[in-house]
Amino acid sequence: QVQRTYNFNAGPSALPISVLEKAQEELIDFRGTGMSVMELSHRSKAYEDVHNQAIASLKELLSIPDTHEVLFLQGGASLQFSMIPMNFLQTGKKAGYVMTGSWSEKAFTEAKLFGEVYHAASTKEGNYRSIPTLDQLQYNSTDAYLHLTSNNTIYGTQWKDFPDTGDVPLIADMSSDILSKPIDVSKFALIYAGAQKNLGPSGVTVVIIRKDLLEQAHTAIPTMLKYSTHSKNNSLYNTPPTFGIYMLGEVLNWVRELGGLSAIAEQNEKKANLIYETIDASNGFYIGHATPDSRSLMNLTFNLASKDLEKKFLEQAKQSGFVGVNGHRSIGGCRVSAYNAVPVEACQAFKEFMIQFQTENS
Ligand code: PMP
Repeated sequence: QVQRTYNFNAGPSALPISVLEKAQEELIDFRGTGMSVMELSHRSKAYEDVHNQAIASLKELLSIPDTHEVLFLQGGASLQFSMIPMNFLQTGKKAGYVMTGSWSEKAFTEAKLFGEVYHAASTKEGNYRSIPTLDQLQYNSTDAYLHLTSNNTIYGTQWKDFPDTGDVPLIADMSSDILSKPIDVSKFALIYAGAQKNLGPSGVTVVIIRKDLLEQAHTAIPTMLKYSTHSKNNSLYNTPPTFGIYMLGEVLNWVRELGGLSAIAEQNEKKANLIYETIDASNGFYIGHATPDSRSLMNLTFNLASKDLEKKFLEQAKQSGFVGVNGHRSIGGCRVSAYNAVPVEACQAFKEFMIQFQTENS
């Protein structure tokens, strides 16, 4: 048995060991084809099955209604920051952006290039420690859309409820919490996520789009950047990231075998609680960044009382085999990313490390 490390990377991040083993097993001869998935034509029946099965699994696990469809795109969540306003903002209407962190800021900055955007709410003044309450959101019923970031990977906050926006299309960047719990997809006009946290390796971007939105899109944009191009071609307009889609399909099978999204959600709560209860019981030795009601179950952010102590903590964490605990380079501090594939034992081991470090340093 190979020694696997405790991987708390923020993305790309831990993948289920059984998925890696299956990929290894199938690498040289994929299901009797005499080649790997990577070597299959994307027009072959063998690949098409992989592709369509991944779409079907995602629909099943997220209970995606028939009003919506799944697209596999490239360019990461970052290209969605541009594609969304390109397709839906250039209609003379405005779009509201809920500002809850660096990724919302990036999405907003990009959208400004294409039309009129404004802050529908912002928690920047409070150093992005929280998610606005639903009654703090201010947007217009005539807007092109309202955009939010469901989980803030850097600050460690997460939406618990989503607004009912009526006729205003609700768009969410779910890069860092998609597939971590059941969600009501029907509330959203468009959901997007880079795969490299809960879904698989980097390279695929999942988009779940309400079909009627496709008809409202602006048309004078490059072919590859139109959602309708990919929709009309079952995400096979050009060569898709075939290996990434295969891995995504296997991750989805793993989630199904674990009992689906309710089972995953329960496990994620358990993992996050192990760390949050340690922070809360530390008498201020560990200082959580997010306000308790906005805490993310995916990215658990905290600080120590001084920069020196924090540095020592991070060094010892690394020496003890915990990888990826450093906060994002933009804000520093500590961050444990406990995505779906991070086992409960990893969080339990880190909890014990935190308690021991506190005992030795206070
Ligand atoms: N949105 C969120 C919430 C993210 O966490 C990230 C990446 N960490 C991005 C967008 C950017 O994703 P990508 O690197 O796939 O473009």
